[in-house]
Amino acid sequence: MRVLKFGGSSLADAERFLRVADIAVNTHGQSQVALVLSAPAKVTNHLVALVEQTSRGMDASPTLFEINGIFSRLLAGLKAAYPALDEKALQTRLTKELDQVERLMQGIRLLGQCPDNVQAHILSRGENLSIAFMHELLRVRGLELDVIVPEQLLVTDGGHLEAHVDIEASRVRFAAKGLRSDCLYLMPGFTGGSDKGETVLLGRNGSDYSAAVLAACVDAECCEIWTDVEGCYNCDPRLVPDAYLLKTLSYKEAMELSYFGAKVLHPKTIAPVAQFHIPCLIKNSFNPQGPGTLIGAEQGDDDLKVKAISDLSGMCMVNVSGPGMKGMVGMAGRIFSAVSRAGVSIVLITQSSSEYSVSFCIHSYDLDKTRKVLEREFELEFKNQLLEPLEIVRDLAIISLIGDGMRTSKGMAARFFTSLAQASINIVAIAQGSSERSISAVVRDRKVAEAIKACHQNFFGSQQFIDLFVVGIGGVGAALVDQIARQQPVLAEQGTGLRVVGIANSRQMAVNKDGLALANWREQLVEARDSFSLEAVKKLVEESHLINPVIVDCTSSEAIAVQYADFLAAGFHVVTPNKKANTGSLDYYKALRRTARQTRRKFLYETNVGAGLPVIENLQNLIKAGDKLRAFDGVLSGSLSFIFGKLDEGMSFSEATKIARGNGFTEPDPRDDLNGMDVARKLLILAREAGMALELSDVDVEQALPPGFDVSGDVESFMARLPDADAWFRDQFESAQQQGKVLRYVGSIEEGQCKVAIKAVGADEPLFKVKDGENALAFFSTYYQPIPLVLRGYGAGTEVTAAGVFADVLRTQNWKQEL
Ligand code: ADP
Ligand code: ASP
Ligand code: MG
Repeated sequence: MRVLKFGGSSLADAERFLRVADIAVNTHGQSQVALVLSAPAKVTNHLVALVEQTSRGMDASPTLFEINGIFSRLLAGLKAAYPALDEKALQTRLTKELDQVERLMQGIRLLGQCPDNVQAHILSRGENLSIAFMHELLRVRGLELDVIVPEQLLVTDGGHLEAHVDIEASRVRFAAKGLRSDCLYLMPGFTGGSDKGETVLLGRNGSDYSAAVLAACVDAECCEIWTDVEGCYNCDPRLVPDAYLLKTLSYKEAMELSYFGAKVLHPKTIAPVAQFHIPCLIKNSFNPQGPGTLIGAEQGDDDLKVKAISDLSGMCMVNVSGPGMKGMVGMAGRIFSAVSRAGVSIVLITQSSSEYSVSFCIHSYDLDKTRKVLEREFELEFKNQLLEPLEIVRDLAIISLIGDGMRTSKGMAARFFTSLAQASINIVAIAQGSSERSISAVVRDRKVAEAIKACHQNFFGSQQFIDLFVVGIGGVGAALVDQIARQQPVLAEQGTGLRVVGIANSRQMAVNKDGLALANWREQLVEARDSFSLEAVKKLVEESHLINPVIVDCTSSEAIAVQYADFLAAGFHVVTPNKKANTGSLDYYKALRRTARQTRRKFLYETNVGAGLPVIENLQNLIKAGDKLRAFDGVLSGSLSFIFGKLDEGMSFSEATKIARGNGFTEPDPRDDLNGMDVARKLLILAREAGMALELSDVDVEQALPPGFDVSGDVESFMARLPDADAWFRDQFESAQQQGKVLRYVGSIEEGQCKVAIKAVGADEPLFKVKDGENALAFFSTYYQPIPLVLRGYGAGTEVTAAGVFADVLRTQNWKQEL
């Protein structure tokens, strides 16, 4: 015999009922079938609500009306498909059951509470009606049927609401009854019988367990759990869209998985089938052809060390501590037996080695009961301050790694906890089962999705996502977004899901939590309603559970730069070509780095100096390796490199500036380049990287103009005045030339002093040949002397800068997948 259990999700409406009937009929053609059915989806929840509402004196008739609606629609749908269906009989049955529930509700209202036996009766109505409806449907389809009544055959203990089936005793009853071999059996799930033959419940979601005990009682060849997903996935498919289907699981793995929260199987399901070595198959009722997941004695062919990651929400942690705990034999025993007397199951336990405290996790709905029994049990200890008041941490969840293969492999826990840390998730407690088949971490409930995603990315090599908010879509920002649009498919193939979830200018922000379609991002931005703010992006990240959000600031705005520390503190990486933050006060400069360290986020600004040239990281690496910067000379401005280079060729200063401006090599107002502040900022950034505690005001800046040159007025009048500078530049150039030198606008560091000025540079110096917009940086260090480390190349331009920003964005990728 094969036991086929269909859950509420497979019985939600007439169409699904009909599908289940098809599967039952087809299977019955191959071997005998016993069908175990749940209530149609939502019905049990409504019944629970109905009891609760009535107990509290509220009017539950709307809830009863909902239940009636579900079955009435079901009936109409079935009748439409099978006109021979005895609609009247089913309608009478429905009315009778619901009338009885209504009468019981009156009793509950009078009592102000619902006795457990009444509650069990009411909550089991969904399953009973499911069976009545399916019975009629299969009868019409010509099958020979019989019903197994759990109240008569499934012997239980443990009360009316969370009963446990005594399989040995039940097997005796089944043997005595003897099953016919010619008919299809139907049994309502979720229920068993008390010693008085009353209905008892097997716990919420307990129909899986019903199927398993039935399979054990009839020595079934297979126990099939039919649900609304393809089988058991390696993690909750609602949280991780690319979770993958497990072909096989061992009984022990399945047990851990369901125990630690995989809703697809009730935790009690596996023990009975494992005891009798019955294979258990999880199948999708929407796709009967799918392979499903096979749970059996063997590990099977998924020879992964970590098989799955599960999450169990709605937990709280109770911490019992105090001086009385130390060395007192039997304290743990007393705690746990008190809790167990209250009928509360403890999900996870940790004890500190000092024996000073014991912490354990329970379902939040068990908290009141637990607190009461502990306060009673330890009344004296609390009074005499041998125990501190119970400490309760609420809103927790347990994340568990599960796999038989973990027993023999090292480094799993390390990788697990690192994954959580890298997703900025704080671990409240940890526990490893002595079987080493599971490792669990207790985290905040609201972080569950992030935790599961981070572990899945790290253990199963699924796509790692980087989620960008690009602020500022001038030259560099726009070029970056376009570059990303082109590279996305290539990166996706390499396992990096680079998504731009927000694009903002100073007024608007276009967002899409799954990543904007970049082909027409400009149009989307025009139509966007949101605007950029820390709060807005934080909200989006929290709601969408993004684990690797990055702010890319492509503005030159000070207002955004001063918020970087807040972004880092809120869990964002910050990537920017904007120099304002790094040239702000030294206090802020340090605070940024401190915050980044504390929150394990990255602050990356490789393009602050030399655009796409690899300057910052190289310098950082040298300093980390113990090198010291002795002196520095650099041409750090592309526009001034061009202008001063033209002087070599005999061009006048004003002419060179005009051409540079015309070609877009300078800022729209060339005074922004000629005043030397941009170079000063870059120089300060380098100096600070080298460990010098300087402020921008400490940099000695001589502008790239004759001393005292009039810089007033608008751009055009300034440009018209510029030929007045030519004679001075010619003089300077000629006297340099007489010594075989050329003029360069140089940022230099010497003896702890930063200086930006026009300098005559000899042929033996690294900057002599640097012109035409090229940048060059010469680092004289302890390791690099007398010949300096020189970095040269094109150090300006939107495309190279955007590419440098792009590279920084990819550096935020948290960890290399270890497969
Ligand atoms: P049924 O109504 O058939 O009993 P449930 O809702 O109780 O169905 O269980 C199936 C659901 O369990 C799936 O829809 C899925 O969202 C959820 N689920 C959680 N974890 C897992 C997992 N690891 N594998 C498969 N499904 C899971
Ligand atoms: N109908 C019951 C519940 O929702 C049992 C089940 O579906 O497994 O808890
Ligand atoms: Mg279920």
